[in-house]
Amino acid sequence: MDIQTILDYQSLDFEKVKINRQLAKSDEYVRYTRANEATKKSVDNVAKMSTRAAQLFAKAEEIAAQFEAASKEYDEIAGAAEGLEQDLKRAEFYDKSLESLSGKLEQLEKEASAVATELSALSKDGEAEIASANKNAALAKSCKGKVDELKAQFATKLDEISAKQRELEEKADPQLLSIYRNARKQVKSFPVIVALRDEKLCGCGIELSGAELGKLKDGEPFVTCPTCGRLVYKPQQ
Ligand SMILES: [Zn+2]
Repeated sequence: MDIQTILDYQSLDFEKVKINRQLAKSDEYVRYTRANEATKKSVDNVAKMSTRAAQLFAKAEEIAAQFEAASKEYDEIAGAAEGLEQDLKRAEFYDKSLESLSGKLEQLEKEASAVATELSALSKDGEAEIASANKNAALAKSCKGKVDELKAQFATKLDEISAKQRELEEKADPQLLSIYRNARKQVKSFPVIVALRDEKLCGCGIELSGAELGKLKDGEPFVTCPTCGRLVYKPQQ
């Protein structure tokens, strides 16, 4: 079994990861990504604020309608109550109705004022958020050229590596390659394939079982470490 081809393939994968990491760590890329994220966050916030503002406008309309209805009722009762001093019972009833309506009107005024306060704060925050979104979008735009340049540089290197990998794919045992690729998805860090250490240990330091060691001794190319998922191979003496 040709493990070396898979090991070379793994090295190239690792090179690609390092190149991508280098790009992700570059100042321009970090600034660009942060500015884009901040822009997106501001845009999301503005959207939330707009939704809230629409709710508040609807509420304000509803309060205004209730206020108008209560005012009308108040005026009607006040009109009907005029000159009723003789009919004490009815006058008392009207008084109570007017008192309750006046309380309702007061309450509606308070609600309307709270809505207006929240809307005014929202409008101020919204303006600040839009200004922040614009600032970050401009920053991202100013970084984009350099980031594209870096990406193009890295893309050339990545393409070269991919070309080498395609050559290896033709040489490699397809089954081993597929085992490696699956393990890579599980392990997510390098190296995925590790040499057996001290005749019994995985790269993670765990001692493999007698059964697993036996498989390696019998010529199996890899065994999967039950602890870390890495593929362990027995180096040639
Ligand atoms: Zn392990």
